[in-house]
Amino acid sequence: MPSYVDPSKCDGCKGGDKTACMYICPNDLMVLNVEEMKAYNQEPDACWECYSCVKICPQGAIFVRGYDDFVPLGGQVHPMRSSDSIMWTVKFRNGNIKRFKFPIRTTAEGAANEYAGEKGANLDDECLLLESDLPTPTKTV
Ligand code: SF4
Ligand code: SF4
Repeated sequence: MPSYVDPSKCDGCKGGDKTACMYICPNDLMVLNVEEMKAYNQEPDACWECYSCVKICPQGAIFVRGYDDFVPLGGQVHPMRSSDSIMWTVKFRNGNIKRFKFPIRTTAEGAANEYAGEKGANLDDECLLLESDLPTPTKTV
């Protein structure tokens, strides 16, 4: 089920060129209504509920409607990110609430390099990352 924005909480990221939710969505689904200064998910059917926009929103304005088998009627799962951790609040349909806090990666934005230290990380090579470590296949007749 897709993400949705609570317009009463969204402040349009205070009028920046690109809002946090627009920046983070891997599917480019979030857009800003510049007249209302409210963001919305322009194509809910294409949302794969990655929660990236939910986690990054500084106002906590984005929510995801959970699937009924994962989040039964009336339940809710919501993350709240701080500078070094993320707190997941799980609300059960009977009203019980549980919270789970985990540390998060603190790599500076733009500084992550997933290929650092990897051998054979030639991005122009047609081989997959570790294929260059495999022995060359021999031809049989
Ligand atoms: S990140 Fe949050 S506050 Fe910013 S535009 Fe998106 S929904 Fe609104
Ligand atoms: S949950 Fe993921 S795919 Fe869906 S709108 Fe948010 S960032 Fe985009």
